[in-house]
Amino acid sequence: MCKGVEPWGWHGVRPINERVVKDGCLLVVSNKKPEELLKFIGKKPYNYRIAILDGDASLAGLWVNKDDLTHERILGGIAAIDPAVISIEAVEAYLMDKTKQKHRAEAARAAYESLRQEAKPPRVKTVTPNDGIVWTHERPVLPKWFEMQEGTVVPAVKRGFEMGPKGQSRNAMFKRGTTKTQRPAVRFDLCTKCTLCWVECPDECFDPTTDGFYDIEYQYCVGCGKCAEVCPVKECIVMVDELQFEDDHSPWEHWKKDSQEYITWVEEKKGKDRVSYPFVTGKGITVTQGVVMPEGKIVPVRKTEEVEV
Ligand code: SF4
Ligand code: SF4
Repeated sequence: MCKGVEPWGWHGVRPINERVVKDGCLLVVSNKKPEELLKFIGKKPYNYRIAILDGDASLAGLWVNKDDLTHERILGGIAAIDPAVISIEAVEAYLMDKTKQKHRAEAARAAYESLRQEAKPPRVKTVTPNDGIVWTHERPVLPKWFEMQEGTVVPAVKRGFEMGPKGQSRNAMFKRGTTKTQRPAVRFDLCTKCTLCWVECPDECFDPTTDGFYDIEYQYCVGCGKCAEVCPVKECIVMVDELQFEDDHSPWEHWKKDSQEYITWVEEKKGKDRVSYPFVTGKGITVTQGVVMPEGKIVPVRKTEEVEV
């Protein structure tokens, strides 16, 4: 969410540090370094701190939710960065009282230790007004009380459809793309035009193109991974770390412009690891090794499904 947060009840895509006050602290769960995250976080006119709790995303786009002790670790982290809010002893006592599970209190304590000033390497960094980016997302102007109409008025989204990038009519006031931790990377040369990604995407992110492919509108993609799950071709859609991408340009247009350059670019972004989240079960992540498919080599994938009860 370092790319921005979109509160429900639309208020635009807002910087994750919008509410951080002078000398305050932004606590983030991430495997990245502060410099890597600040490439996406808006500038502030004063100094504040960023504290990074080592870890993988626990919740993304409301699709991936894991009981991986992130809640407990965040409480321990708060105790480390501002003991005036709550002490670590109070956190441990609360968790033991509420859950009766020692490992939850221990997770909070470990997070606390990792963020203390004496911790090595230091995980808390001062952010100055020179750090971060100029925020590009439009700031919504909310109606004044005397401009509001009687009752509740929700303007409808204009319907329409055109072939090609951004062809579907979508609600421009409801873009959740900045909340994702992964985005689907597509090898169009491997695509069989089976339509499954287009049909199954819960956020209608795929735009049919005149040549029968499906472009992706990343501003609306929440990174759920459904398209990668259903795509029947090996290595055709792969979920990739979102923070590797600095914009939301159309992958199909990129591929049409220079297919060889696109394949090299997208394979570089994909890297070797293939990360997937076992949905619903909340049991962490699965990492397998991917391969680089030769151009146009279509190999079907056999999907296996494990259902835990
Ligand atoms: S199905 Fe794919 S394109 Fe659609 S929201 Fe999920 S990850 Fe994004
Ligand atoms: S699911 Fe895969 S093969 Fe099917 S249309 Fe989408 S990208 Fe192409």
